[in-house]
Amino acid sequence: MRNWPLWTLRRPALLYWLAVDACSLGLVSYVISVSPQPHAAEIARFATIASTAGAVIISTTALSQRLGEPQRNPWATHLCYLTAGIVALPVNLLVLLLFGPALHGVLAARPESHRWVFTLSATTLATFAARLSVGWNTPRLDLLTLVLGGTVLLICRAALVALGLRLRRPHAEREDTFGEPIDVVLGVVATSIGGLMGCVTLANPVHALLAAPPMALLERASQLPQWRRSAQRDAKTGLANAVHWDTRARYELAKARRHHLPMAVMLLDLDHFKRVNDQIGHLAGDAVLGAVALLLRGTVRRGDLVGRFGGEEFVVLLPDAEPDEAESVAQRVRRAVAALRVPTRGADNNQHELTGLTVSIGVATSSRYGYELSDLLVTADAALLAAKGFGRNLVEMA
Ligand code: GH3
Ligand code: MG
Ligand code: MG
Repeated sequence: MRNWPLWTLRRPALLYWLAVDACSLGLVSYVISVSPQPHAAEIARFATIASTAGAVIISTTALSQRLGEPQRNPWATHLCYLTAGIVALPVNLLVLLLFGPALHGVLAARPESHRWVFTLSATTLATFAARLSVGWNTPRLDLLTLVLGGTVLLICRAALVALGLRLRRPHAEREDTFGEPIDVVLGVVATSIGGLMGCVTLANPVHALLAAPPMALLERASQLPQWRRSAQRDAKTGLANAVHWDTRARYELAKARRHHLPMAVMLLDLDHFKRVNDQIGHLAGDAVLGAVALLLRGTVRRGDLVGRFGGEEFVVLLPDAEPDEAESVAQRVRRAVAALRVPTRGADNNQHELTGLTVSIGVATSSRYGYELSDLLVTADAALLAAKGFGRNLVEMA
């Protein structure tokens, strides 16, 4: 228990995550203890909703395993049948439905189980809030109330999760914390299908089966954000990969040219990085890359575009940065890397704390070299080579 990754969370995140977990556990226990026994008809509704959702999840999981897809985000599907439960089940059976995502987390052996538990707890609280908004004992079934219920579920859940993620990583990118527009669309589709499923199940429990095909389609569609992310991001550092960075940088440069705004490109290369690999191990090298990526994100502004250019080379586009501002950002990054301490395990299986890392940085600015990306990159690269030549751990302005 002492080794649980939960304890590595920053203190505010740890307190918040534990509070959300405790509230949800307390509410679940309270609801189970005070709810009356469900009737046979209610149990039949629960059975068809749960078995339809289970069949969809199991078959889509099997399909994606056959296709060799990476681990998926199943929350849209979970939200779908939870919405059906909010509409069609008494609260104690709704609680039982919440065991679906819990079971999924255990069976799929999700990494970061504490994160799964936190998301489940946030979902539980949002589910109760949604149920309260549509009617705790007997949900109302008019359109406005159903829309209200779906909205409360999505907004409460998104707010609880986003606050937890923000406390955990204050400098994470906006889309890592709040999701992206497609997540909102998926949430709306999930709650709409769930609402329909709940309504038809109330009329006849067997009709829950009608929701299986749209739910399966939703499950496949909900992988889109992850596919897009893995196409655009570098897997080791989570930064924009070279191709995506290039596309975004061209777009930003064209915008800056139109509005006559200054731009700077900063190219970074870790000094003597090969020694880390050779002397400590490649996993230690990877840990350094991850730590530098995190440091870069935390040291530059939110709108700055950070990418992994190649092996141990990083690139940052600094919109709206005059040359002296760009230089001071580069110096700040250089100093931060020099102060970096990276705990890691070496090839000898011992813990190491890597210190004394340094970086050389070349900076090119639009005020001197224009808005063509290739010109800026070639110039920044030449400045970077000069910084290496002058002895490393230096910033060189082109
Ligand atoms: P310099 O100061 O001149 O930049 O020296 P350097 O050792 O940093 O540069 P060099 O180009 O000689 O070596 C870069 C090393 O980066 C070699 C390569 O094995 C390592 N590398 C590239 N990508 C990765 C990666 O993803 N993980 C790890 N661990 N190492 C990587
Ligand atoms: Mg290099
Ligand atoms: Mg290097």
